[in-house]
Amino acid sequence: MLFSGNGLPVDDDILDRILTFCPTFQTLQSTMITSKSFYRVFQTHPKSITRAVAYNAVGPALPQALRVLRYPYDEYNTPDADPAAMVEACEEDHLISVITAEEKQKLQENSRIVVKLENIYSLRHKDRTSKTSLLTSEESWRFQRAMYRIMLFCNLFPSTSYSEDMDDECIEKIRRQRTAMLKEYPTTELQELHSVTKFLQGICEEVAPDASLVQMLLSTGPYGAMTIWENRSYDTLEEDLEFPDFDDDDVDLKLFSRYFSLPLENIWTMRKVTPPKDEDPVSKWILDQVNGANDTCSKCAAPGGLQLYTEANWDRFPIYLPNLLKHHLKQNSTITQPFYVATAQLAQPENLAAFIGDLFSFTTRTSPEFDGWMRTDSYCNACLVKFLEEHLWIWFLDERIKGGWTPPENCWYGWNCRTQVHKRFHAETKNHLCVPIKGDAI
Ligand SMILES: [Zn+2]
Ligand SMILES: [Zn+2]
Repeated sequence: MLFSGNGLPVDDDILDRILTFCPTFQTLQSTMITSKSFYRVFQTHPKSITRAVAYNAVGPALPQALRVLRYPYDEYNTPDADPAAMVEACEEDHLISVITAEEKQKLQENSRIVVKLENIYSLRHKDRTSKTSLLTSEESWRFQRAMYRIMLFCNLFPSTSYSEDMDDECIEKIRRQRTAMLKEYPTTELQELHSVTKFLQGICEEVAPDASLVQMLLSTGPYGAMTIWENRSYDTLEEDLEFPDFDDDDVDLKLFSRYFSLPLENIWTMRKVTPPKDEDPVSKWILDQVNGANDTCSKCAAPGGLQLYTEANWDRFPIYLPNLLKHHLKQNSTITQPFYVATAQLAQPENLAAFIGDLFSFTTRTSPEFDGWMRTDSYCNACLVKFLEEHLWIWFLDERIKGGWTPPENCWYGWNCRTQVHKRFHAETKNHLCVPIKGDAI
C-alpha cells in the first residue's frame, strides 16, 4: 500500500488504475521502479495491465498489430501452403495472452511506422496544414487497422519470395492464397484497405517510372512506403530488402502484378460488390471529412485544395533550385557554381522548408506586388515558383556579401543580361545579381 501526500493510504485498485493509464511500456516500466507498491500491484494483474498499456501504445488496432507479430510466416511462405489453413492461423480475435518483452519492442517499432504513415496520409488527404495526423479517432482506427493488415499481407507475400523456377502454376497458387487472406475481412473493411493501398501506391508512383516497378515496390509494404517517402527514392530499399533486380529481363513480374488489386477484384466479383472506381479519392472509405478540399490559392485564387503549398508541406516541393535563378542568371557559371555550394545543404527536406520560410523576410526588397505575401498563406505551384524566382537571387546576393564577396559594378542589364551567358570576362567583372536599369542586352 502506498501513502499519499496527506498520509492516507492509496488503495491498490487506484494503483492498478494508474498503471493502466501508462501511455507506453517505458512509462509503465519507470512507474514500477518508483515504488514497491506499484510493482506488487503489477505482479497481481500483469496480463490486464500489459493489455491496457499495449492498447494505449498501439490503439484499437492492437489485435491486427499483434497478428502481424505472431503470424507463423515461415510455415506458410510457400506456394504449396493450404489457403484455408493460412487464413485460420493466429486469427485476429484470439485472446491476447501475455505480451513478451520482444513483442512489446516490435509492437512499438511497427506502431512508429504506422503512425508516421498516418501523419503523411493526413497531410496529403485530410488536412494540408499539419504534419501531425488530424484524423478523428474513428478515421485513425480504420486507417491503422487496414495498414496492419497490409503489413501482414506483405510479410506473407514478400518481394523477396521471388525465385527463378516459379512457373505459372506456382504463381496461380500464390494468387489464390492472396485472395483467401483478404477474403476473411468484411466488405467495408476491404474497401478501407483498398483506399490505404491506393495511398501507398501514390507514394511509390512518385519515385517509380514504371507501373510494374510500382507493384513490386508496393510489396515492400508499409516499411517500404515510409522509406520511399523519407528518401524520395527507392534506392536504399533495393539494398535493404534485396528485392529482385528490376532491370534483369529474367525476372517474372507476374508475381507482383496487381499485387493488391487482383485479389480484391476477385472478391468484389465473388461478393457482387461494385468495384471501387479509379477516380475515387484516396480519402474515400477512410475519412468522414476532408479539411480545405475546396481551398484556393491565397494569391491567384486557383483551385488547389490539398495540393496547395503551406508551411507544413513546403519540404515536399519538387524543385531544383538552380532552375529558379532568375532569367539568364541560371546560365552564368560564375553565379551557378557558388550557388550550388551555397544551396547544397538544402537538399535536406527540413532545411528546404526552413529556407522557403526565411525567404518571406525578403518581400520588402522586391516589387510591391509581393506586399502582404505571408508565409502562413497557401500557394498554388505557379505562385510559389514565381515567389521563389523573385526572391532567391536576392537571398543569394546577401549570402555572397556575408561570405566576404565585394560585388563589382552593377551591369545595366542586371539578371536580364545575355552577355553574362557567353562572355566570361563580362560575367566576372560585372555584378548581375541586380535589377536591370536598361532593356535587353544582346
Ligand atoms: Zn496561385
Ligand atoms: Zn551584363
